[in-house]
Amino acid sequence: MHEMSIAVNIVAIAEDTARRAGAKKINAISLDLGALSGVVKDALEFCFESACKNTMAEGAALELRVIPARAVCESCGHRFEAEQMAPLCPNCGELVFQLNGGTELKVKSINVD
Ligand SMILES: [Zn+2]
Repeated sequence: MHEMSIAVNIVAIAEDTARRAGAKKINAISLDLGALSGVVKDALEFCFESACKNTMAEGAALELRVIPARAVCESCGHRFEAEQMAPLCPNCGELVFQLNGGTELKVKSINVD
């Protein structure tokens, strides 16, 4: 369960930050998830709920933002946002391998009490 360990990790980061800020409860965690990070969004959301049990983040909302990768077509130079590995250029239909970004997975902010 790849997503479970990621979810546990996210909660640990959030708890650590909340504790240092002197907070008692985590209301929401905002997360940037790269479209090419290999993490299944639905699975992560599912695991997040159980990862929060018996922590400061119990019942917290997960605000997930999927960050697309930037792709540049080598054939026609068209730039577009890709949400998968090796996408097809929407302009000329070439297979594009040149991708930048889209692999990030980071806690952007947390909302605490
Ligand atoms: Zn193209």
